[in-house]
Amino acid sequence: MSEAREDQLYMGYEVVIGLEVHTHLRTQSKLFSPAPVAYGDEPNHNTHPVDLALPGVLPVLNRSVIELAIRLGLATHSTINERSVFSRKNYFYPDLPKGYQISQFEEPTVSDGWLEIEVASGKGKKKGKKKGGGAEVVQKRIGITRAHLEEDAGKSIHDATHATTDTLVDLNRAGVPLLEIVSEPDLRSAAEASAYLKKLRAILRYIGVSDADMEKGQFRCDANVSLRRPGAELGTRTEIKNLNSFAFVEAAINAEVERQAEVLDDGDEVVQATMAFDPATGHTSVMRLKENADDYRYFDDPDLVPLMISEADIEAVQAQLPELPDDKRDRFVAEYALSESDATTLTQSRALAQFFEDATVIHAQPKSVANWILRDVLQSLGEGDRSIEDLALTPESFAALVALVDSGRLTAKSGREIYGVLAESGGDPEAIMAERGLESVQDTGLIEGVAREVIASNPDSVDKYREGDGKVLNFLMGQVMKATQGKANPADVKQILERELAAQ
Ligand code: ADP
Ligand code: MG
Repeated sequence: MSEAREDQLYMGYEVVIGLEVHTHLRTQSKLFSPAPVAYGDEPNHNTHPVDLALPGVLPVLNRSVIELAIRLGLATHSTINERSVFSRKNYFYPDLPKGYQISQFEEPTVSDGWLEIEVASGKGKKKGKKKGGGAEVVQKRIGITRAHLEEDAGKSIHDATHATTDTLVDLNRAGVPLLEIVSEPDLRSAAEASAYLKKLRAILRYIGVSDADMEKGQFRCDANVSLRRPGAELGTRTEIKNLNSFAFVEAAINAEVERQAEVLDDGDEVVQATMAFDPATGHTSVMRLKENADDYRYFDDPDLVPLMISEADIEAVQAQLPELPDDKRDRFVAEYALSESDATTLTQSRALAQFFEDATVIHAQPKSVANWILRDVLQSLGEGDRSIEDLALTPESFAALVALVDSGRLTAKSGREIYGVLAESGGDPEAIMAERGLESVQDTGLIEGVAREVIASNPDSVDKYREGDGKVLNFLMGQVMKATQGKANPADVKQILERELAAQ
């Protein structure tokens, strides 16, 4: 879709990536059986004769997945096909009692869509302003080939912690509804692949299609990777299976790119293969070659009629669709005068965006509320899967804190100290301020007095300042801040010191 840029080449090769994402649908029950979908239960408790493939059973489609598939289709500008068909994908594995997986194949429910990712630079639709003096923010469109419904398989457990060397089978996951979302080979780096996955996960969560919790195996990714000289035909790809964290996706792609570049530079050819990534070594290795690939002998499942979706069905879902991340981002830029990159970050999670809006209603300074979220709240949430709901912070306490800092009653430094308390254990910022004696010194007379004392007791520094050494002002400011226990506003201190120094 977009041309390679010089700075995106790796050893002169353009990196081409297409992703296949499996995401568990947020349903109460399984795709073709009434067994519950739940995580962390005792093995083989959430099963039904359909999941166990007992003789004589018949699958019945879970109606709620139709709406979820339509939602994803709408949110990714895709075609929602009037007719889609469930097929049997035949293979043998102990965690697949039927001997086939029911999956859409030639006629998926959703096809031909796209989503946009924000990339630091590169070609694409120029939309953005500069990010804080750094790289240009550009939106890049990534094609979605199709999204098809299918059932998950069970789980084979090989580890010895079960005091046995046998392989055990847990069928709780057998039959859990999935959407497999297949991208076009439009991604050009590991970072773009990661941005695509994060965007897709944000969309899935916004629209309530999937919780997409990677740690629970609800959101898994296979990465297809190839290299080519810029402008050449697509190269032979390999497919890295079952990547279950953003860090592993990036590391696996980078390792595979490195491996393929070496193969090509040696004058050899990349062999089409299925690869595994070992996080311990940071290397990819061949699991099986494509020439020994399984022949799945797909055919339409005779037990299931084609799924028919009408315009009216689609319109009904459209009417219920919440605001999507991109729309929210654009509204935040227009309504709150935030930068595009700040608005993008705030809207990555629906709960975080809601928190921002709730706090802004109470303290109508969107820019400072946003700054505190982007700096302090995001730091508390860290890199993991923690959500704003996991903090003790409320929009009320947070807005009150930002208001205290904005009014000058708290310095930014003391504000951060109180923030830490609010995030961990909650409370009322005004009360915490009083209790800890953190209210800032706003008495300019007092600051003036301290400033004069500091000037009087540091004649050497004052001389240096007069000689034009601007750095000693920081030292003098530090002395005043120390004498006021950090409770004076640094801007006030600076102004008063400069005035006092000039007056002498
Ligand atoms: P399969 O079913 O064998 O996995 P698909 O046609 O469904 O094959 O393609 C799977 C993924 O591979 C898609 O995401 C697609 O974008 C990607 N892909 C196809 N060709 C290439 C290539 N040359 N390099 C990188 N990715 C590719
Ligand atoms: Mg594949």
